[in-house]
Amino acid sequence: MSTSPAPETVRTDVLIVGAGPVGLFAAFQAGVLGLTCEIIDVLDRAGGQCTELYPEKPIYDIPAIPGCNAQELVDRLLEQCAPFAPPMHFGQRADSVTDITNDDGHPRLLVTTDGGKRFDAAAVLVCAGAGAFAPQRVSVPEAVALEGKHVHYAVRELSRFAGKRVLVAGGGDSALDWALALRKVAARVTLLHRREGFRAADHTVASMRAAVEAGEMDFVMGMLGGLATADGALTAVQVKSRDGDKEIPADDVIALYGLVSEPGPIAQWDLDMRAGRIFIPDTTTYESSRRGVFAAGDIAYYANKQKLILSGFHEAALALRRAYHYAYPNKALVHMHTSNNPALAQKLTHA
Ligand SMILES: Cc1cc2nc3c(=O)[nH]c(=O)nc-3n(C[C@H](O)[C@H](O)[C@H](O)COP(=O)(O)OP(=O)(O)OC[C@H]3O[C@@H](n4cnc5c(N)ncnc54)[C@H](O)[C@@H]3O)c2cc1C
Repeated sequence: MSTSPAPETVRTDVLIVGAGPVGLFAAFQAGVLGLTCEIIDVLDRAGGQCTELYPEKPIYDIPAIPGCNAQELVDRLLEQCAPFAPPMHFGQRADSVTDITNDDGHPRLLVTTDGGKRFDAAAVLVCAGAGAFAPQRVSVPEAVALEGKHVHYAVRELSRFAGKRVLVAGGGDSALDWALALRKVAARVTLLHRREGFRAADHTVASMRAAVEAGEMDFVMGMLGGLATADGALTAVQVKSRDGDKEIPADDVIALYGLVSEPGPIAQWDLDMRAGRIFIPDTTTYESSRRGVFAAGDIAYYANKQKLILSGFHEAALALRRAYHYAYPNKALVHMHTSNNPALAQKLTHA
């Protein structure tokens, strides 16, 4: 009887789980520190929330980048880590982690993925963001058949909605941001939200109200009650409101009710989890309650944690400095700028 060979185990200093903005910056930082790393992501491409949820939305709060859209930021992060050529394994979900010991008796971690890959790492840096995130879906049954054609949960290209009558449902930042952006390309934009109050930044709410006042878009208070179709295409959205039921003509619905975030298999990793995220007992190292497992970015939870990209960058930088001691227990980490490390400077020199 023949047995299939055991899958090859990839040995690395650091395994980075998640190729969102924080995981990508972590790969760069690992390279600067002289650590080898491998990155895995359950999705089929890098970028995390930036690429999946708001690729064309501008970002203004990244140091030294006064403004760029989210996909541009991801492209720049990929360019930044490229000199170190970190291997990226897409379509791989981190499933289990086991404590192991190397020949010298040093503790290491073995991570397996749902795609059958195995990684033997001195440290694991979890940059899993919102985890295996999924959008909260429209609850009317007819939405299922229209998904991807007339019912959307993200905006990948504004131009897709050029000249269309678009109904944006939701009351958070992304619903208001997209409604405002779409009014410039769509034939008509209607924002639908169940109440007068919004979960968005004050200045965004003010911009939306000003746009409604100026007649550039509509706001309707109510709940999405049904979808009317003709020949498989959306024609109108049925809305239940306090003033009674009404129909709003629409070609497309973009429902931005927020994400349902599930930590997925990481919740079974024997980590101290709080509110579905990895609790960080010590914010000088970003190490979790389990030795060798670190967390950075949105998945990390500690007092006053801000879910911002720049916070994740900082967390990853500190986590990797600690991880260095696990990878090289007998070697001191000497802080070097590129100015006193010619080899690194040469590697990072832009063409
Ligand atoms: C609409 C919107 C606008 C925003 N605007 C801004 C802004 O202007 N400025 C700002 O700083 N922040 C902004 N944010 C927040 C910002 O996007 C997040 O803070 C950031 O994406 C977090 O990065 P991350 O790498 O930690 O996680 P994510 O971007 O969520 O990436 C995590 C990655 O991990 C992968 N993953 C998860 N679980 C596993 C697993 N078990 N195995 C393998 N892979 C896994 C996921 O597939 C994903 O690719 C915004 C967010 C939204 C929704």
